[in-house]
Amino acid sequence: MARILIVEDNALNIKLFCDLLAAHGHQPEAVTDSRTALDAARAFEPDLVITDIQLPHVSGIDLIRMIRRDEQLAAVPIMAVTAYSAPGDEERIRDAGAQAYVSKPISVVRFAQTVDDLLADGSDLDPTGKAPASWANEGDGGPGPSEAGGEET
Ligand code: MN
Repeated sequence: MARILIVEDNALNIKLFCDLLAAHGHQPEAVTDSRTALDAARAFEPDLVITDIQLPHVSGIDLIRMIRRDEQLAAVPIMAVTAYSAPGDEERIRDAGAQAYVSKPISVVRFAQTVDDLLADGSDLDPTGKAPASWANEGDGGPGPSEAGGEET
């Protein structure tokens, strides 16, 4: 069982994620207002944070950066969930400090597998399922041709 904080402004997605995680034996906690997410994370002490990217007030990208800068939370794995899967978004999500992302509408199997992978090893997980080495390519200003996919196989 893992403690998993969900930051998501869509009620249907919250229910879906919570139901999925509970069915896998986890303890989910949901936050709908990203302005309270950092405090909620400090209090909840999650093993994993799942955050929407398209959030009002504080974007998921900004929240990921805040978590990475937080002394208490810096090492907590983060999984982003986003309605967009353009190459630039993947780069931004990765650079902000998330270990993985899942595109909406989510694949239930992929969602659960990514959660399991992050809980097993909170680093170096590539959301496309390719080699972790593609994550090590920092600061080149944009994704290379090999990272331009986001395609489902
Ligand atoms: Mn949203």
